[in-house]
This record gives sequence, C-alpha cells and structure tokens, in this order.
Amino acid sequence: MQRIKTIKDMRALSRGLMSEKKSIGFVPTMGALHEGHLSLVRRSKEENDITVVSIFVNPIQFGLKEDFNKYPRDIDGDLKKLSSLNVDFVFIPEIRKMYPDGFSININIGGIGDIFCGAVRLGHFNGVATVVAKLFNIVMPHRVYFGQKDFQQTVIIKKLVRELNFDIDIIVCPTVREADGLAMSSRNSYLSPTERKSASILYRALKHGEGLILQGKQDASYVKTEIEKILNSEPLISIEYIGIVKPQRLESVEIIDSPVVICLAVRIGTTRLIDNLPVSP
Ligand code: AMP
Repeated sequence: MQRIKTIKDMRALSRGLMSEKKSIGFVPTMGALHEGHLSLVRRSKEENDITVVSIFVNPIQFGLKEDFNKYPRDIDGDLKKLSSLNVDFVFIPEIRKMYPDGFSININIGGIGDIFCGAVRLGHFNGVATVVAKLFNIVMPHRVYFGQKDFQQTVIIKKLVRELNFDIDIIVCPTVREADGLAMSSRNSYLSPTERKSASILYRALKHGEGLILQGKQDASYVKTEIEKILNSEPLISIEYIGIVKPQRLESVEIIDSPVVICLAVRIGTTRLIDNLPVSP
C-alpha cells in the first residue's frame, strides 16, 4: 500500500493507471475507520483493478460550532486497517493544499441541501459537494463508493455527478451496524456508556416503522408518529427530524405506496446521530 500526500502525485498516478486501462475504485472518508468504511473498501476491491481511499477531515463541511477540532483522528490505526485489506493507494492531502489562501469556490447544491440534515447543518452539503468534486477531479475514479448510512449525502452526490457531468458511477453500499443495530459511525465514540445503550433505540424505531409499512399502513404521518413515540420513550434522546421520503429526490410522501426511505436524526446528549432504512411496501 502506497501513501500519497500531494495532489500532483495523486493526479500523475491516476493518469498513469488510466493509460494502462486500469479501473479505479475510490472510497472517500474522513478517517477513524470502522467496518462501515471497510465494507466500501472491500466492495471497491471486488469491482476494480485499483482501489484508492482518501482520508481528509474536510473543514468546509463543518459549521463554526461543530466538531471539526475534536473529530476523531487515527491515521496509524487507519493505515493498518487499509493495508490489511491490501488497498493500493491511500491519499491523505494537506488542508492548505486542498484550500490554499484565496480559495473561495463553494458549490451550491440548491434546496436539497437545506432540508433534513441541511436545515440544522447550514452549508454542510455545499462543503461536502465542493470537496467531493475536488477529490473526483484529483483521483479521476471510474467508480466511487458511498454508504447508505449518509442517505441524504448519497442523493446529493448523485445529483452533483449528474448535473456537473462527472463520468463516474456512484455505488451506494448498505449500512453496517453494530450487534444491537446501531449504525457504525466515527461519532459513536463520543457516546458515554449509558448514551451508547440508549442509542440502539434508533434502529428499533426504524424497524418498527418498517414493520408498520410492511403490514400495509400507508399513512406516513401515522407511521412517523409511531416512530416518534418509540424514540420519545428513551429520555436521553431528543428528536431532530423523522422523514419518510422518496429515495431519488428526498420528497416527503403522505401516502406510502412505493419504495421510501425512513430517515431520522436525533441528539443524545451533545452527540448528533443519523440513521435511515429503505422500505418497499
Ligand atoms: P465518513 O468518514 O463519515 O465521511 O464516511 C465515509 C464513507 O463511509 C461515507 O460514504 C459514509 O456513508 C460511509 N459510512 C460511514 N458509516 C457507514 C456505515 N455504518 N455503513 C456503511 N457505510 C458507512
């Protein structure tokens, strides 16, 4: 496994691989890697000649009061995990090279970036779109792997690729969960043992919603209320949103008569957690 530090080296490498007609799979991450990330890496390894993983905690997707400084970082652990999976290249760019003095472009993703997670994290998805577009231009991958865990992000990245004509396939991989159903996340490390226990209710609430839909309940507001009741039974949790939306464009539905995604965000103490579950009635 080779570690690439500069944009110039990464581009030269990708150009070389392309001239050799090698397919490049790419997994962008912010590090503190867990099984969720590694599932994307394994999938990329299966489907491509070469796999590139980037580790970059992107400052422009964090709000001023968010956790950029304390976001978990573990480069040594990450490198061990990636090398044990025989990843070909790890790209770890420097912040000042990604955002040199005077950098001012910010991709405006439009209204889809202002709802659900975007309503609370102002500008977050524009920051995500901007770094992802930069990384796509640098790595020049054929396929890029994202997790269903960050469902709104996947919808936005697909829109970015479509509307800016990136010649890239976006592959969304299933959410990897802990034994009690909690979606793996680098931010789970913020939870105290008591908070961690109560966090398992997110998945139970989603599964309950799924059960109602599979039983034939079509009224989205009824299903949301039932999910809300379950979440509210856990005193440590405060609900940020519960949505039942169409998978392609995040439009909220009133009647559930085609595939939907149940998505939710909560706070447990100071930690914000998100999760979602696709359901086909
Ligand atoms: P992050 O490092 O949090 O930016 O995540 C990098 C990629 O890993 C994103 O595409 C995430 O959606 C994906 N990811 C994070 N957690 C999980 C999980 N539990 N299961 C599957 N993919 C995940």
